[in-house]
Amino acid sequence: MLFEFDLKTPAQGMIDITREVREAITESGVDEGICVIFCPHTTGAVTINENADPDVKADFIFGMDKIFPDMKEFRHSEGNSDAHLKSSSVGASETVIVTKGRPLLGTWQGIYFCEFDGPRKRKFYVKVMRG
Ligand code: ZN
Repeated sequence: MLFEFDLKTPAQGMIDITREVREAITESGVDEGICVIFCPHTTGAVTINENADPDVKADFIFGMDKIFPDMKEFRHSEGNSDAHLKSSSVGASETVIVTKGRPLLGTWQGIYFCEFDGPRKRKFYVKVMRG
């Protein structure tokens, strides 16, 4: 089954979407299988990271800004090449194992939508497959 979710994002940030993924898996009725979480945007991304200390999210964005600063040499007329670099480095999707009707995640892991060029209205997709 395919599920579509809407998000309103800040300028930059990591939005915890673990609850939405859990709900999609529950609604799909799949007990054992695979779940794909996909971001259809070129300046957003999906990742799995720590969900305990909120400072990790702040440090993640801070670090990405250091690694991928805006540079005057960029040619892209939209002016958001740093966000495109961040998007591709983090990636557009994650795959999660589904077992006993739940996503298999470590104790400190959460699933995040990453915004690198907001604020915007965004979407993400969750595809749940039995197997
Ligand atoms: Zn662009």
